Amino acid sequence: LVEVMAIDKSFGPSRVLKQCSLDVRTGETVVMIGPSGSGKSTFLRCLNLLEPVDGGNIFFEGRDITRERDKAHLVRREIGMVFQSFELFSHLSAAENIMLAPMNVLGLSRLDAHDLATELLGKVRIPDKADAFPDELSGGQQQRVAIARALAMKPKMMLYDEPTSALDPEMIREVLDVMADLSAEGMTSIVVTHEMGFARRAADRIVFMESGEIIEAATSEAFFGGSVGERARRFLDQIL
Ligand code: ATP
Ligand code: MG
Repeated sequence: LVEVMAIDKSFGPSRVLKQCSLDVRTGETVVMIGPSGSGKSTFLRCLNLLEPVDGGNIFFEGRDITRERDKAHLVRREIGMVFQSFELFSHLSAAENIMLAPMNVLGLSRLDAHDLATELLGKVRIPDKADAFPDELSGGQQQRVAIARALAMKPKMMLYDEPTSALDPEMIREVLDVMADLSAEGMTSIVVTHEMGFARRAADRIVFMESGEIIEAATSEAFFGGSVGERARRFLDQIL
């Protein structure tokens, strides 16, 4: 589905991504780990065309999207993104947050958008929260609304950037469960997270990044089976 070929990205003098390559097949879930500042968020942002790359190519469904800055909004429609901070509109209810893009971008009627929001709130397991405002929801519930909002655009792929790191421990599980369900249903996903329980449960592959380089991209079996390189091992020893 996505083929990233040797992308480079610098901010001023600092090279943040160095010749990063990664293929993600349709239906696959890839978990990305690595130290702070290693370039994980930047990698996702480049994939979603939120940041231009300096070199290399990104193919989406076989089409080179690398330099289609003018069509970036079309690409972002097909790739949903969820951030650490939920970034919901605080003056809109959960349902309205979800309805906004389908109405404005896809041209759905208010009624159809509402039906879609109802369906998606069920999918993220908060069917009774349609009329709640963000400040009336727990962090875990807000993040699930954010996931539902991304799903409302019927994306072909989801990118999650540390979706549970702003959450209290007891809410992490409910968000990861929803993500794992989506993965099990075949949603292609890249997940930046240090939740290794989720990785074990849901990931097909684990990618380890360090200093702007993709050091390893191992199958989950290989990774958890112990065939992990020295640098990834050292990182895991720190976080586990
Ligand atoms: P973390 O685990 O802390 O989220 P990360 O792996 O996501 O880290 P990035 O956020 O991608 O890392 O950052 C990689 C490097 O790029 C860091 O050194 C960061 O300071 C730098 N960087 C990121 N965004 C910008 C920007 N907009 N301008 C300048 N430097 C940036
Ligand atoms: Mg980051």
